Amino acid sequence: MYTLLYKSFFLHLCTMEVEFIIVGFGLAGMAFAETLEEHNRSFVVFEDASQTSSNVAGGVYNPVILKRFTPVWNGTEQLGIALPFYRKLENRFQNTYDYKFDTYRIFKSVEEQNNWFTAADKPLLAPYVDTKIVYDKHKGIVAESGYGRLKQTGRIDTKALLTDYKKELEKKELIRYESFAYEKLVLSDSKVVYKDISAKHVVFCEGYGLHKNPFFNHLPMNEAKGELLTIHAPDLNVDFLIKAAVFVLPLGNDLYKVGATFNWKDKTSLTTEEGKKELLEKLETFIKCPYTIVSQSAGIRPTVKDRRPLLGIHPNYKQLVLLNGLGTRGVMIAPTAARDLYKYLIEGIPLDKEVDIARYFV
Ligand SMILES: Cc1cc2nc3c(=O)[nH]c(=O)nc-3n(C[C@H](O)[C@H](O)[C@H](O)COP(=O)(O)OP(=O)(O)OC[C@H]3O[C@@H](n4cnc5c(N)ncnc54)[C@H](O)[C@@H]3O)c2cc1C
Repeated sequence: MYTLLYKSFFLHLCTMEVEFIIVGFGLAGMAFAETLEEHNRSFVVFEDASQTSSNVAGGVYNPVILKRFTPVWNGTEQLGIALPFYRKLENRFQNTYDYKFDTYRIFKSVEEQNNWFTAADKPLLAPYVDTKIVYDKHKGIVAESGYGRLKQTGRIDTKALLTDYKKELEKKELIRYESFAYEKLVLSDSKVVYKDISAKHVVFCEGYGLHKNPFFNHLPMNEAKGELLTIHAPDLNVDFLIKAAVFVLPLGNDLYKVGATFNWKDKTSLTTEEGKKELLEKLETFIKCPYTIVSQSAGIRPTVKDRRPLLGIHPNYKQLVLLNGLGTRGVMIAPTAARDLYKYLIEGIPLDKEVDIARYFV
């Protein structure tokens, strides 16, 4: 009796009724919001700028792992969903986010060239790997063993996309710039009440912010901090991504992003002198032209022990949902992850066991 009165008291106070509350508006939150939008489902977003990963990301998409020349997990399928997803947003916001370019992998040895030829024979890699070794000379780049050219790669300007999307949500009053306070969540059998909002589900998309979430923070996230530099190099003059000890990503106007580091210990999103030093040392192994540093940025990649996303429903609280674990490839994975999670919640289509958080609740 008391519980019922207590619940109805809270529901009575609600001035906003939505189907979904989304916590976090990085790539994961944005992709889920867009999926809801496509299906005319109502939602409200909470975003507190505590994490930076989606805003600083290089935004590169590439279905081939360039260390070992192996396919990225489900890469072709993910790209098939992601590229139309971003194109649709380009049309809606009348802005460009998808910058297509080739990727040139600098070979360190003849052995690497041979591994490249082997990769080109694999059916999953053949559409992307150009079998001809590129020996073109590019001023300012050291590449004595040539380059392997990868086709159909590019980058999404995640910062511009998220900024435009947030503006639209602001106009519709569907985003609140505040921290979601987990202790204020009131759960009942079929609903949640949070402050003045009543909803059917809360979808947590907090990236590394997961570690503060009392419902899901036991899940095995191995956060990987990354730092990047933006440099100005007027003599470099390339319109492709160069991959060697680090990547050099063309942004236009002689600007290039250089990245990224992997640090498994530092859990802050602050830039460091060590990060800068590491990037410059690696950059100078293959770039021999003058440049100046324009800026430095950092963020934490929400990486999972088994390198698969974390999707699903809390085993005890069915209203609480997770979309996280996009790791190092949020651009490619987010649209597929959001689609699959939506189908699971609304249409009852089971999640792939590889991504379902149930794998950690046994
Ligand atoms: C240096 C670097 C380079 C990268 N390069 C690439 C790349 O080239 N290509 C690629 O695909 N991926 C790249 N990534 C990885 C990519 O950034 C991530 O996969 C992706 O951004 C993760 O998105 P997310 O939405 O899950 O997390 P996040 O981007 O961390 O977003 C989570 C959001 O939740 C908010 N939040 C957290 N807790 C709360 C709370 N309690 N209340 C309200 N809001 C909250 C945070 O402020 C944040 O905005 C890179 C990452 C880094 C750090």
